[in-house]
Amino acid sequence: MSINKKPSGPETVSHDRPLFERDVDAYKAKGKLAEPTVCPQCGAVYHEGRWQWSEATADAHRETCPACHRIHDNFPAGFVTLDGPFFNAHSEEIRHIIQNHAEHERTEHPLKRIIAIENQEGAMLVTTTDTHLARGIGEALHHAYQGDLKVDHVPGESTVRVHWSR
Ligand SMILES: [Zn+2]
Repeated sequence: MSINKKPSGPETVSHDRPLFERDVDAYKAKGKLAEPTVCPQCGAVYHEGRWQWSEATADAHRETCPACHRIHDNFPAGFVTLDGPFFNAHSEEIRHIIQNHAEHERTEHPLKRIIAIENQEGAMLVTTTDTHLARGIGEALHHAYQGDLKVDHVPGESTVRVHWSR
């Protein structure tokens, strides 16, 4: 029996490179798409070079949009971390502001969506499908409550990390 030639040790997975670097191309399908294309998940239609909410024609191509891709893979483009004593005292109100902001953006731009809102130890993490939405959430909170806003673009990656604290 010489079938089993695989090493039997624990599987080795290389973490040398961040996940973002390896897989980011999968979310850059823009430009290669036929028109019109409809996303079977959310119904967004790729037309005139961008994804929009509209009716798909019967002959539309079918392909998952980048936002649904990211949501499915839980692969955020934006990370917004919120913390601080003021945040902790008003976290529900702040959550509503974030959700309203995101809902408003989504109506205009199908690819701008929240992936998840997670409560963490004394903080909240909001992940988004789009860097501008992450930045916009930070700016909306800063506009409403002041506090400290920090926006970091990860060099070479289409990822943004936003930190708002008050
Ligand atoms: Zn979609």
